[in-house]
Amino acid sequence: MHTVTLIPGDGIGPEITEAARLCVEATGVPIKWDIVEAGASAMEKYGTPLPSLVIESIKKNKVAWKGPITTPVGKGFRSVNVKLRKLLNLYICLRPYKYYPGVKSKFNNVNIVVVRENTEDLYAGIEFEEGKLETKEFIDFVKEKSGVKIAEDSGISIKPISISASRKIVKAAFEYALNNNRKKVTAVHKANIMKFSDGLFSKVAKDVALDYRGKIEFEERLVDNMCMQLVQKPQNYDVLVLPNLYGDIISDLCAGLVGGLGMAPGANIGDKYAIFEPTHGSAPKYRGMNKVNPTGMILSGVMMLKWLGEKEAATRLENAVAAVIREGKKLTYDFKPTPDDPTAVGTREMGEAILEKI
Ligand code: NAD
Repeated sequence: MHTVTLIPGDGIGPEITEAARLCVEATGVPIKWDIVEAGASAMEKYGTPLPSLVIESIKKNKVAWKGPITTPVGKGFRSVNVKLRKLLNLYICLRPYKYYPGVKSKFNNVNIVVVRENTEDLYAGIEFEEGKLETKEFIDFVKEKSGVKIAEDSGISIKPISISASRKIVKAAFEYALNNNRKKVTAVHKANIMKFSDGLFSKVAKDVALDYRGKIEFEERLVDNMCMQLVQKPQNYDVLVLPNLYGDIISDLCAGLVGGLGMAPGANIGDKYAIFEPTHGSAPKYRGMNKVNPTGMILSGVMMLKWLGEKEAATRLENAVAAVIREGKKLTYDFKPTPDDPTAVGTREMGEAILEKI
């Protein structure tokens, strides 16, 4: 029996989590769920979006499965997702983007894995608010040390990139490639402009690549060029490794190549703990409407089953998802030519169709 922390999240989180949980249970793998609340609902109940019992539960069980959690824009609490990744040192964000026949997409041959650094870069949360005394002091410090005059009315976010974190993430990308029959790792950055942050990432990536010479091919791309390459010839790419922010943006681009955000699963992995979740957010406008696609959440369940050592069940569940998509009868609105297509089914109905195929 496995015990897994289950965080339904908010927005569309509870609906997709419920549909996906039933599918995972239908594989017959014995799992005891330790259900805990984080996000807006926890804020109301406990006065914090991330109660300590959530962290305790994940530390005890080592594995969590999580629905999306809303982060208020520009105000309110900071991202629970970012905090979880930092607190548990989940330094690898692993996101596979695979085309399933039946999905409407311009491409039918995408099979890319994004390996995103999860702990530093502009996501480190080191920010100076416009108008604050410490911001003025920081602006003065920069002027004194570099001669660069930052406008007085600026808000500032800092981008730290370290040798240690870059080494760990690039090594993780190569190890993933090696263990999953992948051929190539592409390191993505903007080292020509940000010489001391992205430049360092590039230097470390080249260095790590030497250890895999002859086994895994290595190349680099500037992030702007990478965007164009991906929308023109995604079939040329295999495993991508990126610093945090580029990883976030390229993830959504890759989701767009395989049918949209509803199709994309992900995992946040460290040396001790792992959290599985869809790539997409809480899509608040669809909350409670039984409308959105549960596939990203279900495929993150496939990743979780593999992580738990339940490879056969994981394959059965993925095959069931693929079969329902291929048949095209019980699919949510985002598979259709228009959002109001009358043949679309709800989250629950698509989940049930997958469940029946298992
Ligand atoms: P989002 O991913 O929630 O939604 C953007 C759009 O994508 C939606 O309006 C919808 O059209 C589509 N979409 C998303 N999921 C879908 C699904 N399962 N099926 C069909 N269509 C789907 O992005 P957003 O609107 O930028 O963010 C909403 C909230 O989610 C924000 O508070 C954000 O911070 C949070 N967020 C959380 C996570 C996480 O929990 N890991 C990740 C990303 C965003």
